[in-house]
Amino acid sequence: MATQQIELYNTLTRKKEKFSPLNPPFVGMYVCGPTVYDDVHLGNCRTFISFDLICRYLVHVGYKVRYVRNITDAGHLEGDRDEGGDKFAKKAKLEQVEPMEIVQKYTVGFREVMRMFNTKAPSIEPTATGHICEQIEMTKQIMDAGLAYESNGTVYFNVEKYSQKNNYGILSNRKLEELLEGTRELEGQGDKKGRLDFALWIKAKPEHIMRWPSPWGWGFPGWHIECSAMSTKYLGATFDIHGGGMDLIATHHTNEIAQSQACSQGEPVKYWMHTNMLTVNGVRMSKSAGNGFLPLELFTGNHKLLDKGYAPMAVKFFMLQTHYRSTLDFSNEALQASEKGFERLMNAVNTLEKLKPSEKSSSDIKALCAKCYDAMNDDFNSPILLAHLFEGVKIINSINDGKEMISKEDLELLKNNFHGFIFDVLGLKEEKTTSNNDELVNNLMALILEIRNEAKAKKDFSTSDKLRDSLAKTKISIKDTKEGVTWVKEK
Ligand SMILES: [Zn+2]
Repeated sequence: MATQQIELYNTLTRKKEKFSPLNPPFVGMYVCGPTVYDDVHLGNCRTFISFDLICRYLVHVGYKVRYVRNITDAGHLEGDRDEGGDKFAKKAKLEQVEPMEIVQKYTVGFREVMRMFNTKAPSIEPTATGHICEQIEMTKQIMDAGLAYESNGTVYFNVEKYSQKNNYGILSNRKLEELLEGTRELEGQGDKKGRLDFALWIKAKPEHIMRWPSPWGWGFPGWHIECSAMSTKYLGATFDIHGGGMDLIATHHTNEIAQSQACSQGEPVKYWMHTNMLTVNGVRMSKSAGNGFLPLELFTGNHKLLDKGYAPMAVKFFMLQTHYRSTLDFSNEALQASEKGFERLMNAVNTLEKLKPSEKSSSDIKALCAKCYDAMNDDFNSPILLAHLFEGVKIINSINDGKEMISKEDLELLKNNFHGFIFDVLGLKEEKTTSNNDELVNNLMALILEIRNEAKAKKDFSTSDKLRDSLAKTKISIKDTKEGVTWVKEK
């Protein structure tokens, strides 16, 4: 049985609740995974790092967790309400490859970034394309319940009819009328009966490659149905935790509840958990704002907003210093402070191994360990946990300096506590945070690019071309962009 009583914030009830799983010690947890049509962005990474932390802590206190995180590899249109083109088809056309090549490329890239962040793989990672039958079956069930209709080969969920007996806006705490007011009439959506209706199955145009046969003709599943179908398949009609970024509450998760409820007549999820968004220097991170750097850009420092690169563990440590329900603000100063903090923590872990026990302890180690658990029991509060671990760092350094003492029994306890929380729960690992080498390379590259710029300004193209070609030989490519010159080292 679990050794701790956890309280967590439930988006559905808008309050903290005592966590009590349906079938302890088992916990079923579903998290909406990435749509693999592009490089994973940092907001997604934060969500997955947060649920990795949650999963790790549940396991740490004795739960047996089945963690399902899907890969969306079909059916995701540009707009959350099924408007615009297919994200995969569009990217495939742009890169002149098959849509499944896009899926493969960005799935591999996503897993690599997750590995660099030292997150554990989920128990099951199902794909939308691998569960077309289940999605068709679920769509049929919703039609049988009279809550969906076919129109020209596309099947829509009838939100207004569903709302006669159910509360459609239950998760976002909004009334149907408010939601209707907030939705505009969209062009090319003439087949829908109601403005809030969303597609369960979408008719494929003749040129669409990723399509499957269905009772309604050739098509592909809508984005929302995949999560309902796959969570039901692997976790049952009702399960414990469903998570994702808070941007999914209003549409995707709202629709998931409606779909599952239409089939099973019961609430599909006991606890809904959502992570907050990212900002950069106080401005919301987004591609359009030009401040959306990617994980690899953050690791290499190759972005105009970054002073330098930061090791994945320093970035993870930085993220864990903010609670998952608060906005997380990136700045060079904050990242550099985290880098130092992470190094101090890791140095203390090493010092801990060298400490010699005394007759008795001068600090209350048991109380310190209990406070670490209290922090995590309070809605997985990692910043408070880290604050307590840094109290431990002070004690460790004082003992090492001969200013404090620790008993043999307390030393064992402190070691277990530190290792358990730092490595098993927070999922950190030792890693060089600043490599002198990286700094040297960055400085040299800045110098080379400056010489090349000067040569170009003087129309000395033989020098500028020579620099570019020589760099290309060492697999460094230079790109001239609107913001200036950037460089990348190919792998
Ligand atoms: Zn989902």
